[in-house]
Amino acid sequence: MDFDGRVVVVTGGASGIGRATVQAFAEHGAKIVIWDVQEEAGAAYASELNAAGTEAIFSQVNVVDSASVDAAAASATEKWGRIDVLVNNAGIVRDGQLVKYKEGAVQKMMSDEMFEKVIDVNLRGVFNCTRAVVPVMIENQHGRILNASSVVALYGNFGQTNYVATKSAVIGMTKVWARELGKHGITVNAVAPGFIRTEMLDSVPDKIIDRMVAATPVGRIGTPEDIASAYRFLASDSAGFINGTVLSVDGGMVLGT
Ligand code: NAD
Repeated sequence: MDFDGRVVVVTGGASGIGRATVQAFAEHGAKIVIWDVQEEAGAAYASELNAAGTEAIFSQVNVVDSASVDAAAASATEKWGRIDVLVNNAGIVRDGQLVKYKEGAVQKMMSDEMFEKVIDVNLRGVFNCTRAVVPVMIENQHGRILNASSVVALYGNFGQTNYVATKSAVIGMTKVWARELGKHGITVNAVAPGFIRTEMLDSVPDKIIDRMVAATPVGRIGTPEDIASAYRFLASDSAGFINGTVLSVDGGMVLGT
Protein backbone atom coordinates (compact mmCIF):
# COMPACT_ATOMS: atom_id res chain seq x y z
CA MET A 1 0.00 0.00 0.00
CA ASP A 2 1.10 3.58 -0.65
CA PHE A 3 2.05 4.35 2.95
CA ASP A 4 3.49 1.02 4.10
CA GLY A 5 6.24 1.75 6.65
CA ARG A 6 5.52 5.49 6.59
CA VAL A 7 4.75 7.45 9.74
CA VAL A 8 1.95 10.03 9.57
CA VAL A 9 1.28 12.63 12.27
CA VAL A 10 -2.17 14.22 12.31
CA THR A 11 -2.81 17.11 14.69
CA GLY A 12 -6.40 17.37 15.88
CA GLY A 13 -6.74 13.74 14.80
CA ALA A 14 -9.29 12.80 17.45
CA SER A 15 -12.31 14.21 15.65
CA GLY A 16 -13.73 15.81 12.51
CA ILE A 17 -11.51 16.11 9.44
CA GLY A 18 -8.48 14.95 11.44
CA ARG A 19 -10.17 11.70 12.39
CA ALA A 20 -11.16 10.97 8.78
CA THR A 21 -7.61 11.82 7.70
CA VAL A 22 -6.16 9.33 10.18
CA GLN A 23 -8.55 6.71 8.80
CA ALA A 24 -7.56 7.41 5.20
CA PHE A 25 -3.86 6.96 5.95
CA ALA A 26 -4.47 3.92 8.17
CA GLU A 27 -6.38 2.21 5.35
CA HIS A 28 -3.31 2.67 3.15
CA GLY A 29 -0.79 1.08 5.49
CA ALA A 30 0.59 4.06 7.46
CA LYS A 31 1.69 4.05 11.06
CA ILE A 32 -0.34 6.73 12.79
CA VAL A 33 0.51 9.39 15.36
CA ILE A 34 -2.42 11.38 16.73
CA TRP A 35 -1.79 14.65 18.54
CA ASP A 36 -4.85 16.21 20.14
CA VAL A 37 -5.93 18.01 23.30
CA GLN A 38 -8.83 15.56 23.74
CA GLU A 39 -7.22 12.82 25.81
CA GLU A 40 -10.11 10.36 26.05
CA ALA A 41 -11.20 10.54 22.41
CA GLY A 42 -7.61 10.44 21.13
CA ALA A 43 -6.58 7.46 23.25
CA ALA A 44 -9.78 5.58 22.39
CA TYR A 45 -9.23 6.17 18.68
CA ALA A 46 -5.62 4.93 18.85
CA SER A 47 -6.79 1.76 20.66
CA GLU A 48 -9.46 1.23 18.02
CA LEU A 49 -6.87 1.52 15.25
CA ASN A 50 -4.46 -0.87 16.98
CA ALA A 51 -7.28 -3.38 17.45
CA ALA A 52 -7.97 -3.15 13.71
CA GLY A 53 -4.31 -3.87 12.86
CA THR A 54 -2.91 -0.34 12.36
CA GLU A 55 0.04 0.67 14.52
CA ALA A 56 -1.07 3.91 16.16
CA ILE A 57 -0.03 6.07 19.07
CA PHE A 58 -1.77 9.00 20.71
CA SER A 59 -0.10 11.84 22.59
CA GLN A 60 -2.09 14.47 24.38
CA VAL A 61 -0.61 17.56 22.80
CA ASN A 62 -1.69 21.15 22.82
CA VAL A 63 -0.13 22.46 19.61
CA VAL A 64 0.31 25.87 21.26
CA ASP A 65 2.79 24.39 23.75
CA SER A 66 6.07 23.98 21.88
CA ALA A 67 7.70 21.91 24.65
CA SER A 68 4.90 19.36 24.51
CA VAL A 69 4.99 19.30 20.69
CA ASP A 70 8.78 18.77 20.71
CA ALA A 71 8.46 15.95 23.26
CA ALA A 72 5.74 14.21 21.21
CA ALA A 73 7.83 14.50 18.02
CA ALA A 74 10.84 13.06 19.86
CA SER A 75 8.81 10.14 21.18
CA ALA A 76 7.38 9.26 17.72
CA THR A 77 10.88 9.50 16.21
CA GLU A 78 12.32 7.33 18.97
CA LYS A 79 9.65 4.70 18.36
CA TRP A 80 9.75 4.56 14.58
CA GLY A 81 12.91 6.46 13.54
CA ARG A 82 11.03 8.64 11.08
CA ILE A 83 8.15 11.01 10.50
CA ASP A 84 7.11 11.10 6.85
CA VAL A 85 3.95 13.18 6.87
CA LEU A 86 2.65 15.96 9.10
CA VAL A 87 -0.94 17.08 8.64
CA ASN A 88 -1.32 20.39 10.48
CA ASN A 89 -5.05 20.02 10.92
CA ALA A 90 -5.81 21.20 14.48
CA GLY A 91 -7.78 24.43 14.41
CA ILE A 92 -10.42 26.44 16.23
CA VAL A 93 -12.84 29.29 15.63
CA ARG A 94 -13.89 32.16 17.91
CA ASP A 95 -16.18 34.14 15.62
CA GLY A 96 -17.39 37.69 16.06
CA GLN A 97 -17.38 40.97 14.19
CA LEU A 98 -14.42 43.29 14.62
CA VAL A 99 -16.87 45.97 15.77
CA LYS A 100 -20.60 45.27 15.99
CA TYR A 101 -22.39 48.60 15.65
CA LYS A 102 -26.15 48.77 15.97
CA GLU A 103 -28.76 51.37 16.89
CA GLY A 104 -26.16 54.13 17.04
CA ALA A 105 -23.83 52.34 19.45
CA VAL A 106 -21.02 49.83 19.64
CA GLN A 107 -22.59 46.59 20.87
CA LYS A 108 -19.57 44.29 20.89
CA MET A 109 -16.01 43.95 19.67
CA MET A 110 -13.74 41.04 18.95
CA SER A 111 -11.78 40.72 22.20
CA ASP A 112 -8.01 40.36 22.58
CA GLU A 113 -8.66 36.88 23.95
CA MET A 114 -10.68 35.81 20.88
CA PHE A 115 -7.97 37.11 18.57
CA GLU A 116 -5.02 35.66 20.46
CA LYS A 117 -6.52 32.23 21.09
CA VAL A 118 -7.16 31.64 17.38
CA ILE A 119 -3.73 32.98 16.38
CA ASP A 120 -2.15 30.68 18.97
CA VAL A 121 -3.79 27.44 17.85
CA ASN A 122 -4.16 27.97 14.11
CA LEU A 123 -0.90 29.81 13.43
CA ARG A 124 1.59 29.27 16.25
CA GLY A 125 0.46 25.62 16.40
CA VAL A 126 1.34 25.06 12.75
CA PHE A 127 4.71 26.72 13.32
CA ASN A 128 5.44 24.62 16.43
CA CYS A 129 4.52 21.28 14.87
CA THR A 130 6.33 21.89 11.60
CA ARG A 131 9.51 23.03 13.34
CA ALA A 132 9.39 19.92 15.52
CA VAL A 133 9.18 17.37 12.69
CA VAL A 134 11.33 18.96 9.98
CA PRO A 135 14.74 17.91 11.44
CA VAL A 136 13.92 14.17 11.18
CA MET A 137 12.42 14.69 7.72
CA ILE A 138 15.67 16.36 6.64
CA GLU A 139 17.70 13.48 8.06
CA ASN A 140 15.58 11.05 6.04
CA GLN A 141 15.53 13.37 2.98
CA HIS A 142 11.80 12.78 2.73
CA GLY A 143 8.74 14.55 4.01
CA ARG A 144 5.31 15.93 3.32
CA ILE A 145 3.89 18.88 5.26
CA LEU A 146 0.19 19.56 4.74
CA ASN A 147 -1.44 22.62 6.21
CA ALA A 148 -5.15 23.25 6.81
CA SER A 149 -6.09 26.58 5.30
CA SER A 150 -9.70 27.37 4.36
CA VAL A 151 -11.91 28.66 1.62
CA VAL A 152 -12.36 31.80 3.74
CA ALA A 153 -8.66 32.62 3.42
CA LEU A 154 -9.30 33.07 -0.29
CA TYR A 155 -12.33 35.36 -0.11
CA GLY A 156 -12.66 36.67 3.47
CA ASN A 157 -15.64 35.96 5.69
CA PHE A 158 -17.94 38.06 7.82
CA GLY A 159 -17.15 37.65 11.54
CA GLN A 160 -13.84 35.87 11.11
CA THR A 161 -11.05 38.46 11.38
CA ASN A 162 -8.99 36.18 13.60
CA TYR A 163 -9.64 32.92 11.76
CA VAL A 164 -9.12 34.33 8.26
CA ALA A 165 -5.88 36.01 9.42
CA THR A 166 -4.53 32.61 10.47
CA LYS A 167 -5.74 30.68 7.45
CA SER A 168 -4.17 33.27 5.10
CA ALA A 169 -0.95 33.26 7.10
CA VAL A 170 -0.78 29.48 6.81
CA ILE A 171 -0.70 29.89 3.02
CA GLY A 172 2.22 32.30 3.41
CA MET A 173 4.14 29.87 5.62
CA THR A 174 3.40 27.07 3.16
CA LYS A 175 5.11 29.03 0.39
CA VAL A 176 8.14 29.90 2.51
CA TRP A 177 8.64 26.31 3.65
CA ALA A 178 8.12 24.97 0.12
CA ARG A 179 11.11 27.11 -0.93
CA GLU A 180 13.23 26.32 2.13
CA LEU A 181 12.65 22.57 2.34
CA GLY A 182 12.27 21.35 -1.25
CA LYS A 183 15.98 20.63 -1.53
CA HIS A 184 15.65 18.11 1.32
CA GLY A 185 12.97 16.08 -0.42
CA ILE A 186 10.22 17.74 1.59
CA THR A 187 7.15 19.22 -0.08
CA VAL A 188 4.79 21.63 1.65
CA ASN A 189 1.24 22.28 0.51
CA ALA A 190 -1.98 23.73 1.88
CA VAL A 191 -5.53 22.50 1.49
CA ALA A 192 -8.39 25.00 1.50
CA PRO A 193 -11.54 23.12 2.47
CA GLY A 194 -14.96 24.54 1.75
CA PHE A 195 -17.68 24.07 4.34
CA ILE A 196 -17.33 20.61 5.82
CA ARG A 197 -19.83 18.90 8.11
CA THR A 198 -17.98 18.64 11.47
CA GLU A 199 -18.45 19.98 15.00
CA MET A 200 -16.77 23.19 13.86
CA LEU A 201 -19.94 24.01 11.91
CA ASP A 202 -22.23 23.38 14.88
CA SER A 203 -22.22 27.07 15.77
CA VAL A 204 -23.08 28.13 12.20
CA PRO A 205 -26.82 28.77 11.70
CA ASP A 206 -28.61 26.50 9.21
CA LYS A 207 -29.59 29.42 7.00
CA ILE A 208 -25.89 30.30 6.51
CA ILE A 209 -25.10 26.66 5.67
CA ASP A 210 -27.99 26.64 3.15
CA ARG A 211 -26.55 29.78 1.58
CA MET A 212 -23.12 28.13 1.34
CA VAL A 213 -24.56 25.05 -0.32
CA ALA A 214 -26.41 27.27 -2.80
CA ALA A 215 -23.07 28.93 -3.66
CA THR A 216 -21.38 25.56 -4.23
CA PRO A 217 -21.59 24.29 -7.82
CA VAL A 218 -21.66 20.62 -6.78
CA GLY A 219 -24.66 21.48 -4.57
CA ARG A 220 -23.66 19.93 -1.28
CA ILE A 221 -21.67 20.52 1.85
CA GLY A 222 -18.32 18.70 2.06
CA THR A 223 -17.51 15.64 4.15
CA PRO A 224 -14.40 15.03 6.25
CA GLU A 225 -13.53 12.23 3.81
CA ASP A 226 -13.44 14.73 0.92
CA ILE A 227 -10.60 16.55 2.69
CA ALA A 228 -8.90 13.38 3.91
CA SER A 229 -8.51 12.09 0.36
CA ALA A 230 -6.90 15.37 -0.73
CA TYR A 231 -4.37 15.08 2.09
CA ARG A 232 -3.68 11.46 1.19
CA PHE A 233 -3.07 12.34 -2.44
CA LEU A 234 -0.76 15.26 -1.60
CA ALA A 235 1.19 13.03 0.79
CA SER A 236 1.63 10.25 -1.77
CA ASP A 237 4.61 9.61 -4.05
CA SER A 238 2.36 10.57 -6.99
CA ALA A 239 2.33 14.17 -5.72
CA GLY A 240 6.10 14.57 -5.46
CA PHE A 241 6.25 17.51 -7.89
CA ILE A 242 3.44 19.46 -6.21
CA ASN A 243 5.01 21.97 -3.84
CA GLY A 244 3.92 25.30 -2.36
CA THR A 245 0.40 25.13 -3.70
CA VAL A 246 -3.06 25.64 -2.22
CA LEU A 247 -5.53 22.95 -3.23
CA SER A 248 -9.15 24.09 -2.99
CA VAL A 249 -11.42 21.22 -1.94
CA ASP A 250 -14.70 23.07 -1.90
CA GLY A 251 -16.98 21.72 -4.61
CA GLY A 252 -16.12 24.73 -6.78
CA MET A 253 -17.19 27.39 -4.28
CA VAL A 254 -14.07 29.44 -5.01
CA LEU A 255 -13.09 29.15 -8.64
CA GLY A 256 -9.81 30.14 -10.18
CA THR A 257 -7.43 29.54 -7.31
P1 NAD B 1 -13.11 20.06 14.64
O1 NAD B 1 -13.42 21.12 15.64
O2 NAD B 1 -14.15 19.06 14.30
O3 NAD B 1 -11.79 19.28 15.07
C1 NAD B 1 -10.63 19.97 15.46
C2 NAD B 1 -9.74 19.03 16.23
O4 NAD B 1 -8.58 19.79 16.64
C3 NAD B 1 -10.39 18.48 17.50
O5 NAD B 1 -10.11 17.11 17.64
C4 NAD B 1 -9.74 19.30 18.61
O6 NAD B 1 -9.68 18.62 19.84
C5 NAD B 1 -8.36 19.54 18.03
N1 NAD B 1 -7.71 20.70 18.62
C6 NAD B 1 -8.25 21.91 18.85
N2 NAD B 1 -7.36 22.71 19.45
C7 NAD B 1 -6.21 22.00 19.60
C8 NAD B 1 -4.95 22.26 20.16
N3 NAD B 1 -4.67 23.43 20.71
N4 NAD B 1 -4.01 21.28 20.14
C9 NAD B 1 -4.30 20.07 19.61
N5 NAD B 1 -5.48 19.74 19.08
C10 NAD B 1 -6.44 20.70 19.08
O7 NAD B 1 -12.63 20.85 13.34
P2 NAD B 1 -12.67 20.39 11.81
O8 NAD B 1 -13.89 20.95 11.20
O9 NAD B 1 -12.37 18.96 11.70
O10 NAD B 1 -11.45 21.26 11.23
C11 NAD B 1 -10.16 20.74 11.06
C12 NAD B 1 -9.31 21.78 10.34
O11 NAD B 1 -9.88 22.10 9.08
C13 NAD B 1 -9.18 23.09 11.11
O12 NAD B 1 -7.88 23.62 10.97
C14 NAD B 1 -10.19 23.98 10.43
O13 NAD B 1 -9.87 25.33 10.58
C15 NAD B 1 -10.07 23.50 9.00
N6 NAD B 1 -11.26 23.80 8.20
C16 NAD B 1 -12.48 23.29 8.56
C17 NAD B 1 -13.60 23.61 7.79
C18 NAD B 1 -14.99 23.12 8.13
O14 NAD B 1 -15.94 23.57 7.47
N7 NAD B 1 -15.17 22.21 9.06
C19 NAD B 1 -13.46 24.44 6.66
C20 NAD B 1 -12.20 24.91 6.33
C21 NAD B 1 -11.11 24.59 7.12
